[in-house]
Amino acid sequence: MKGGTPPPPIPLRRAAFLDAFECLGDKCEDTCCKGWGMQLDPARLSLYQKEAPELLDAVTSGEAEHIMRRDPVTDACVKLEGGWCGIHKSRGTEFLGDACYFYPRITRAFGNDTYMTAALSCPEVVRLALYGEKDPFPWKETVTTRVPVEMKDYKPDALTSEEARAVMEAFLQAAGDGTATPERIMIRLVNAAQSLMTITEKDWPQAVGFLLRIADTKLLPPEGNDTDPYRLVNILVGLIAASKKTNRPRLDEVVERMEKALQIRIDRVALTITSATRTPDAHVGLEKRWGVKAASALAPMLRRWIQAELSMMAFPFAGFGADMRERIAFIAIRFATLRLALMCHMSDDTPPDAGTVVKIVQSLSRFLDHLADPTFSRMAYTEAGWFLESRLRALVGDAG
Ligand code: SF4
Repeated sequence: MKGGTPPPPIPLRRAAFLDAFECLGDKCEDTCCKGWGMQLDPARLSLYQKEAPELLDAVTSGEAEHIMRRDPVTDACVKLEGGWCGIHKSRGTEFLGDACYFYPRITRAFGNDTYMTAALSCPEVVRLALYGEKDPFPWKETVTTRVPVEMKDYKPDALTSEEARAVMEAFLQAAGDGTATPERIMIRLVNAAQSLMTITEKDWPQAVGFLLRIADTKLLPPEGNDTDPYRLVNILVGLIAASKKTNRPRLDEVVERMEKALQIRIDRVALTITSATRTPDAHVGLEKRWGVKAASALAPMLRRWIQAELSMMAFPFAGFGADMRERIAFIAIRFATLRLALMCHMSDDTPPDAGTVVKIVQSLSRFLDHLADPTFSRMAYTEAGWFLESRLRALVGDAG
């Protein structure tokens, strides 16, 4: 802001873990300026045209009409200088497009309320949300001076802003239940979301707590399939193959470790699985070792992961999927993928350390959060039967 009247403060509800967030810059292990077409909003484009025409060279089109140009060799933004943003350095934050200014923060409107949370595709957010000392997820009242130029209002017409908040809070709190396994929590949320879909929106605030409390009594028996874990990896590899080609070395390492632990190899073109041994035995062995100590050691982190996903998606009102039932199924399938990846990174029965967990969570999120279209995932998951509660229950590992 150069001179003049400062912008008026805008009330904001921000996830508590963002109090401590600072971009790691040149210390970041997977900078967000690489491999992504960061969009430039119209307000900033017009600012460049009027006051900084030299910056127009850094603007091109691609994933959107106006994006920041990337170096064809490094695949990083042409304005990235030694791990830090050159535009931020030379011109200040006013000249950053919304995508660059806010990432990894996600800002959403609910009527008159504005909420800010953050994406697990940033490694520092993963550390703060999954391993921070304080409870990361309460909404804290604060103010800001900038919100994105375009903000969709996610509040359903039938609910007030307070009622929408109460529904989101009910799911977040249920996900933090320290007396339940993360696997049980995950399927409880699926069950409650399905029940909520059967009643009218205006009754959600009154019904959601009750439906979450009684979910255990309504769960269908798990219906497993020996091939599910292998199919999870196969579909993940298929999604990667079908998406825009960019280097994802961290994700590649995670997937290769999964293949090794499961004793399979997936052809990256034909998407066929070759197994080195009797594959169901490999997964059965992993589940046994997981239950010795890794499951309890990683349970607090996995509960927080579920909360972080709900927070990131302002569940049940936003996120990947057409409605609440589909959105929670997508989260549950991601949970199953993450759980399997963690299992595959055990050393004997010792769980992966925090640094490895951050790498697994962040690299999966960086890919899965940026799938533009749910069509392929929906088709693959439907074919596998994973939109059915009993199949999902087995998939997330809730043995009943
Ligand atoms: S991913 Fe996060 S920590 Fe890394 S450069 Fe981007 S905002 Fe900073």
